[in-house]
Amino acid sequence: MSLLVYGMALHETCLRFDVSKNSVEWHNKASKFLEEHNIPPNPVSHLIAYEYFSHKRPELNKRVNERLRSDLSLDVYFLRDLFEEFCVNQQEGKSEAHLSDLQNLLLKVIEGISLSGTEAEAYSRVLEQQKTALDADLGTEDLKNIANNLLEATQEAISENEKMKQHLRSAEENTRQLQQQVAELKEETSKDPLTGLFNRKALNQRLSDLVDEVSKTEEPLTLCMFDIDHFKAFNDNFGHQVGDQVIQLVSKTLQDKSRSSDFPARYGGEEFTLLLPGTKMDIAELIASRIHQAVGRLALVKRSTKERLPSVTISMGLASFKEGDTGESILSRADQALYHAKQTGRNRIVTETELAA
Ligand code: GH3
Ligand code: MG
Ligand code: MG
Repeated sequence: MSLLVYGMALHETCLRFDVSKNSVEWHNKASKFLEEHNIPPNPVSHLIAYEYFSHKRPELNKRVNERLRSDLSLDVYFLRDLFEEFCVNQQEGKSEAHLSDLQNLLLKVIEGISLSGTEAEAYSRVLEQQKTALDADLGTEDLKNIANNLLEATQEAISENEKMKQHLRSAEENTRQLQQQVAELKEETSKDPLTGLFNRKALNQRLSDLVDEVSKTEEPLTLCMFDIDHFKAFNDNFGHQVGDQVIQLVSKTLQDKSRSSDFPARYGGEEFTLLLPGTKMDIAELIASRIHQAVGRLALVKRSTKERLPSVTISMGLASFKEGDTGESILSRADQALYHAKQTGRNRIVTETELAA
């Protein structure tokens, strides 16, 4: 059961119950007053606070003010005593109208409360019983009993609610930790450890998602695939570690030249891809050309001996999404273009259009 729901229902009910401008203000003040004094919002407490701000009963205000000045705290029990004294125990005709007002208020508050969950069921039952009781022609003693029953049930529901909140809090914390672990795991399985780029699995997933998307939206999509030329020679001449450093430098260049919407990945070994969503072939060629040039300009020095290494070149192949394409078919065309670049001298960019011509 949500106390907020309870408080709002009570508040709303009170507004319906008496809608004059003053009464709205008194209800607001009453709610705030109860909150300030840490008093749970139940019909009885609210009614007394409301009465206090309405200044309809000087004697009641005097008692509240005395209590506020004293060392004793203003609590739910003090308000209940006032309720019994001022609202229930007055037998004169003047309070008759008030009694029926009170009866209405209690009834409407009960109707306004929406509850869920097993803990709240007991509370609902008590409210239902009190509601039935309120339907009868009631005397002051009956009303007093009903108010007391409501008070007790509310207190109990509040303490149950506190327990439930704690359960919820710890469940929420567990869920949050699990979600974080899942996110970390996902990140781990989608990244290549040597370069920090997305791996082939992540590329395949993203490509498949994008193909689904652009099949509907007709947005352009281009894939660039490239491979380091004569990389085996690097390993053979300078060792595997230097080879790894070359792969890292090329990866960094790819990352630096990519836009935030692009998706750079290490496809495997010394082979890379760059997915360019929303990009037609002519712009993709421009971006590919920038990467190609930047890699060519890398000045490599062997750390241990300060020896200058030969420059690195790459061969590139480009393909754009066509109707009926799948992730594999685009990859395959980009790969064919790349193969053609290798066959025709390396260190160059070939588009699928050139390949067809
Ligand atoms: P081409 O221009 O035709 O692409 O020639 P290449 O030598 O680059 O191609 P090849 O496929 O003959 O050799 C690629 C080499 O890359 C072989 C493999 O040992 C090496 N390699 C693959 N992954 C890594 C890696 O993570 N680190 C290092 N150092 N070498 C790698
Ligand atoms: Mg190669
Ligand atoms: Mg290769």
